[in-house]
Amino acid sequence: MSGLTDLTLAEARDAVAAKKVSSSELTEAFLKAMEAARSLNAFITETPERAFEMAAASDKRIAAGNARPLEGLPLAIKDLYCTKGVRTTAGSKILHNYVPQYESTVSQNLWDNGAVMLGKANLDEFAMGSSNETSYFGPCISPWRAKGSDAKLVPGGSSGGSACAVSANLCLGATATDTGGSIRTPAAVTGTTGIKPTYGRCSRWGIVAFASSLDQAGPISHTVRDCAIMLKAMASVDPKDSTSVDLPVPDYEAGLEAGVKGLRIGIPKEYRVEGTSPEIDAIWNKGADWLKAQGAEIVEVSLPHTKYALPTYYIVAPAEASSNLARYDGVRYGHRAEGIEDLIDLYQKSRAEGFGSEVRRRILIGTYVLSAGYYDAYYLRAQKLRSLIARDFTEAFKQCDMLLTPATPGPAFAIGEKISDPVTMYLYDVFTVTVNLAGLPSLVLPAGLTESGLPLGLQFIGKAFDEATLLRAGRALEVAAQFTAKPQPWWRAP
Ligand code: GLN
Repeated sequence: MSGLTDLTLAEARDAVAAKKVSSSELTEAFLKAMEAARSLNAFITETPERAFEMAAASDKRIAAGNARPLEGLPLAIKDLYCTKGVRTTAGSKILHNYVPQYESTVSQNLWDNGAVMLGKANLDEFAMGSSNETSYFGPCISPWRAKGSDAKLVPGGSSGGSACAVSANLCLGATATDTGGSIRTPAAVTGTTGIKPTYGRCSRWGIVAFASSLDQAGPISHTVRDCAIMLKAMASVDPKDSTSVDLPVPDYEAGLEAGVKGLRIGIPKEYRVEGTSPEIDAIWNKGADWLKAQGAEIVEVSLPHTKYALPTYYIVAPAEASSNLARYDGVRYGHRAEGIEDLIDLYQKSRAEGFGSEVRRRILIGTYVLSAGYYDAYYLRAQKLRSLIARDFTEAFKQCDMLLTPATPGPAFAIGEKISDPVTMYLYDVFTVTVNLAGLPSLVLPAGLTESGLPLGLQFIGKAFDEATLLRAGRALEVAAQFTAKPQPWWRAP
């Protein structure tokens, strides 16, 4: 079989099951593609030996007729997921040498379903960022370029490596995480599909914590179907994460083609924000028209507290981060400063040397908003606003089954364009953070290209634990949008 790396996860699964290709052949093809794409910096650690070992074990199982749902399918794992015996850095210097003694529940679920690990994907440091530029291991570069330009673009963040690896055909799918948009932003700007499940749908155990009340695992993949397949394998209740939810995991793939006839799809008027590119507005209108043409009813709804979402998120997330990141002290694991005088000096120097500037900024903001005297003024108020933001969605869902919105205010930007101005960078999260504050599921998929040939995504936001309906609507939009564009492989040596 030729073009192995062009297959979707579903196609590869079917080809493996039909014995048209072996897992070892697939794995080799992806490892070669990864090698040829090192200039994109999509991976922090490649794990070829483990990949071949897992592939050989899968081929044996297939031969014996014991294949599991993801048997032999090569995936990339965001380097925020702890992988037993394989370095896990969270994109930070402070964990540059950390080798976990345990496996995250979600990655374990994937291996238990037969998947093969290709390596650990690049990300913003501790998943803090929207462009993958805060990684200690250097920025990941988008495989996409604007027409007639060779400017390097961001792949979105924080799961930039995951999105880049999928978009450049370096894996069949990738794990990602989303605290305020980190699955959806990279998917939107790289022409890939990602789903942030409901808070509690996937276990957070073994995933390096950023903001525990917002963090959620999910897949980035080529298609809605691939997302459905991966999410089914990733989701589970887990006694090791008390916020994981004990609800049956539906067969998301089974209902995919049911269409949107009779579904009511809400358009939140507050998402028409200033500063959004006209091309995004146009694709949003087009998306609504496509769904209407397939029998959905489009209704205007209101989410009145939307304007408070970014300030609320940028208080809650740093507050939780400052607490979660207190564990990196240079004592137990990770980077330890040399030439220290006493314990306090060890903490101070190790943390100052180990954390990059964006992470330090978050720790400072978080500590400030939690400190006595400021707690009520900032943190408590943010918590109250969070409830109001969540209530907006509850009210809106009385009028509709899901919402359709833009995913990002614009297409991918150039590396270096926003990184020196954190507030501009934070504004890029305007359409995604509300969902995390409310704990809801949300799907992003490609809907079109800009004039200059860059992908634009649309976002569906659903009711809690209604991923199945989101995926079904996503599939309908995918069929209508017929997005088949791929980046030109400029990164491959001629
Ligand atoms: N861009 C957001 C932030 O920097 C979201 C990151 C994420 O979802 N992990 O906080």
